[in-house]
Amino acid sequence: GAPINAANIDNLSQHFPLCMKNLHATLRKNNHLKHFGRLQYTLFLKGIGLSLEDCLIFWRQAFKNKTDDEFNKEYRYNVRHVYGDVGGDANRRGTGYSPYSCQKILTEHPPGSGEAHGCPYRHFSIDNLTSMLQATGVHDREVLKGVKEDVDKKRFHIACNRVFEWAHKAEIKKVKDENIWGPAELDTIVHPNTYFKRSYLLKN
Ligand code: SF4
Repeated sequence: GAPINAANIDNLSQHFPLCMKNLHATLRKNNHLKHFGRLQYTLFLKGIGLSLEDCLIFWRQAFKNKTDDEFNKEYRYNVRHVYGDVGGDANRRGTGYSPYSCQKILTEHPPGSGEAHGCPYRHFSIDNLTSMLQATGVHDREVLKGVKEDVDKKRFHIACNRVFEWAHKAEIKKVKDENIWGPAELDTIVHPNTYFKRSYLLKN
């Protein structure tokens, strides 16, 4: 499959769930993300298998308007901390922090204005959510209608799974028909890193 390194994140973002696509797009647009966005995204990137070294390269290049000095002072430590490379807690040394589950993203720290973390299915207006889905290639009216119904019922991760299943329907059919994947490999996604991993495996 496509290599997981700093230079390839734009390409790999095709496999990201909407929460991480939103963080990635906002980062590219503003050359910056606020604190909780950096945290949510760094943990996710760690979870897809990006090395600490590559993660530092990724953020350094992404913050185009920062000098090396500013980057090293303000951001470098936090990325290393997430990876368990530095920090006071010996238990986390070497492993760092776990990537956030949907449950955590859906319920903790709702984004304020100018912040891009959180879950678009929960934290966007239905109009903004629909626009973003369309911008990422989801044009199917039945899917968009289903998403709206899910969101109305506050079944946010079901909406996300609906989009996943639609976007990967040919690949899912293939692995089912050929008995390559069973129900366990295709159960409901409840973690952004599962979304990535499943998409990456199906499309590579
Ligand atoms: Fe991300 Fe989970 Fe929301 Fe999907 S349901 S966009 S994976 S937080």
